[in-house]
Amino acid sequence: MIYLDNASTTPLDADVLEAMLPYLKENFANPSSQHAAGRRAADGVVSARDTIARFIGCKPGEAFFVSGGTEAGNWALKGACAAGGDRGKRIVVSAIEHPALIESAKDMQKFGFEVVFVNPDGEGIIRPEAVEKALTADTVFCAVMAANNETGVIQPVREIGALCRERGVFYYCDCVQTAGVMPLPVGDCDALGISSHKFYGPKGFGVLYIRNGARIDRFISGGRQERGLRGGTTNAAAAVGCAVALEKAVNFMTENNEKISALRDLFTEKVICGIDGAHINGSVKYRLPANANISFDGCDGEQILISLDLNGVAVSTGSACSAGAVSPSHVLTAMGLPAGRVKSAVRFTFGKYNTVEDVEKTVEILKSAVKKIRAVKR
Ligand code: PLP
Repeated sequence: MIYLDNASTTPLDADVLEAMLPYLKENFANPSSQHAAGRRAADGVVSARDTIARFIGCKPGEAFFVSGGTEAGNWALKGACAAGGDRGKRIVVSAIEHPALIESAKDMQKFGFEVVFVNPDGEGIIRPEAVEKALTADTVFCAVMAANNETGVIQPVREIGALCRERGVFYYCDCVQTAGVMPLPVGDCDALGISSHKFYGPKGFGVLYIRNGARIDRFISGGRQERGLRGGTTNAAAAVGCAVALEKAVNFMTENNEKISALRDLFTEKVICGIDGAHINGSVKYRLPANANISFDGCDGEQILISLDLNGVAVSTGSACSAGAVSPSHVLTAMGLPAGRVKSAVRFTFGKYNTVEDVEKTVEILKSAVKKIRAVKR
C-alpha cells in the first residue's frame, strides 16, 4: 500500500511500541493504586507527563491527559463556557474547525449560547480582522485552529490569540495537525489540544494544555485523576508512548519537514504539470509540509479515492459520510470555492515513511484514474 493519508492518522513507530509494552505487561497496574505495582505504573505516567510538558513548552501541571483531539476540543469549549459565569453566552468558532469544535459549539446552543462562525478567505485563512469583528463584549470562547486538517493552511494564531487576550476571551487552539511539525503556540492561547496518533504515537490518547489560571470547568466527572479535572483510569502505556513519539517528532522536526515537503512539492509539480485542470486548494505559502489538497475538473473526489484505493493508494476527500449520504467539505465550501471544485477535491498527505517511488507511482495511477473518470463523464 502507498499511504498518503497521514493527516488522518500515522502508523505507530516501532520504538514507541517498545516503550509502551512494559506498561501493558509487567507494569500493568492502575497508576492510582497505592501498592508498589501501582507506583511503578505511576512513575511511568509522571515521567511521561514531564517529557510531554517539556516538548509542549508548558509546566507538567498544565498538561492534562485526554483521549485525543476530539475530547480536548469538547473539554475546552464546554469547560470554558461552563466556567464563563456572567461573561456572556457568545461562542466564536472558525468555520473550518474540526467537527470536534463545530459540533461542540452546536451542542451549547441547547443551553442558550449563541454560536458565530467566522469564514476564511479564499485561501483558507481566518483573517484576524474577521475574528476581531466577531468578538463582542459578551463573547466567552473562541476557537481557531493552528492549521487546517483538510487544506493544511496555517492560521495566524498569534494575532488571534492577542485579540482574545485583550478582550478576556478564552482562546482554544486545536494543534492536532501541527504538533511535531511546528512549535506549539503555548504563549498565545488559554488551551491547546494535541493527539498522539498524528505523530506516530498510539491512538486514543491526547493532551489538553490548560494555561495555569485559565477559567475552565472539568468535562469528564469521575475519579480524582488529572488533578480532579478528568476522571478515568490513566492509560499509562499510551502516555509513555505519546511522550516518546512527541519527543522524537520535535527532535526530528526539521529533517522530517524537509523530507516531507520535498515529496509533497515533487508530487504537486508532477500533478499540476501532468494533469490538465488540476487546482491546488488553499494557500500554498502558508501550508503545512505534508498537505496537498487538489481538485480535478470534471471529476468526483470520491471516484478518484475509490480508483486510487483499488490500485493500493490510500488518500482522503474532505467530504463527510453520514447516514449513507456524502456531504461536501465544510472547509472548502466556507472558502467560497465553486461546488464542482469542492466535489472534486482529494487530500494527499505525506509522511516520514513515504518515498519518491510512492510519489511517482501515485502520479501515474492518478493520471489514469482522472483520464478514465473524465472519459466516462463525457
Ligand atoms: N482536530 C483536528 C484538526 C484533527 O485533524 C483531528 C483528527 O483528524 C481531530 C481534531 C480529532 O482528533 P482525535 O482523532 O484524536 O479525536
